Amino acid sequence: MAKSKVLIIGGTGYLGRRLVKASLAQGHPTFVLNRPDIGVDIEKVELLISFKMQGAHLVPGSFNDYKSLVDAVKLVDVVVCAISGVHIRSHNILLQLKLVQAIKEAGNVKRFLPSEFGTDAARVLETATAPGNVVFKDKMVVRKAIEEAGIPYTYVSANCVAGYFVGGLCQFGKILPSTDSVVIHGDGNTKAIYVAEDDIATYTIKTIDDERTLNRTLYIRPPKNVLSQRQVVQIWEKLISKELQKITLSKEDFLASMKVGASHYYDVLHEGCLTNFEIGNEGEEASQLYPEVDYITVEEYLKRYV
Ligand code: NDP
Repeated sequence: MAKSKVLIIGGTGYLGRRLVKASLAQGHPTFVLNRPDIGVDIEKVELLISFKMQGAHLVPGSFNDYKSLVDAVKLVDVVVCAISGVHIRSHNILLQLKLVQAIKEAGNVKRFLPSEFGTDAARVLETATAPGNVVFKDKMVVRKAIEEAGIPYTYVSANCVAGYFVGGLCQFGKILPSTDSVVIHGDGNTKAIYVAEDDIATYTIKTIDDERTLNRTLYIRPPKNVLSQRQVVQIWEKLISKELQKITLSKEDFLASMKVGASHYYDVLHEGCLTNFEIGNEGEEASQLYPEVDYITVEEYLKRYV
């Protein structure tokens, strides 16, 4: 069977650039939205050119030009969107409503993967802590539009992106591991799930021609990476042969200092929102569906910082 043609939107982004790489690596004819809005952002332009040199097709198009979105979507079978959704960078999730409309009008797309790649919004919609819960509300607005338009979809729940969570030893506001002390959330024993960025992209692209993931959620739960904060810290301490001083941060103190991004850390590390449910019949688990993927463990990931 011929591989589906894929359009990646947000292709120069943190996850987007890996999705482009994974799509090319898995042999999909790969198209990348090239927004004129990026102007003279030389780093984005360089990335786009590097995609082209690796065989991707650059497609002009903008969220400010609806027709250009429809035209771009008509070129492909599958659309994967990785538009920004992290408050500390920027949050543009609702822009995807224009894309949903364009996909509906084009009428040819057999799968749409909206920008998800985190906690499963449907599971935490009622319980997630403010102010970060807005990201889940917005992602659910997009899901509702997709489902009402009858567009075939897959939602990817990628849990904690390793660069943010593992790099900072699960401390909010840090993305490099400390070598002296570490702030521990509560008792530090709540389990979370860490996934390397390249693995998120690999699993995501694997779903697009797979009927088992049609209109379902893919949960990426690599079993070796379901760890507590204390376990992540222990792996790091072993790698650097040094024990860190532990400073405990209670739920109450963390809640009192709440910022947008911090509320995600609270839900994950104090409330255990990623691991307090069984996947059941509503979704599929990535490492079980695709056992051939040799995923990166937290220990392997942490070695890059030594
Ligand atoms: P980025 O901040 O890297 O942005 C991705 C792309 O969004 C940009 O490269 C750009 O695409 C596009 N974009 C940004 N602003 C606009 C705009 N105004 N109009 C049109 N396009 C725009 O995103 P991330 O890769 O960090 O996030 C992608 C997804 O992953 C989000 O849904 C986010 O919530 C999730 N995520 C989850 C994490 C976790 O720990 N679970 C961590 C990080 C992200 P272009 O290439 O066209 O310029």
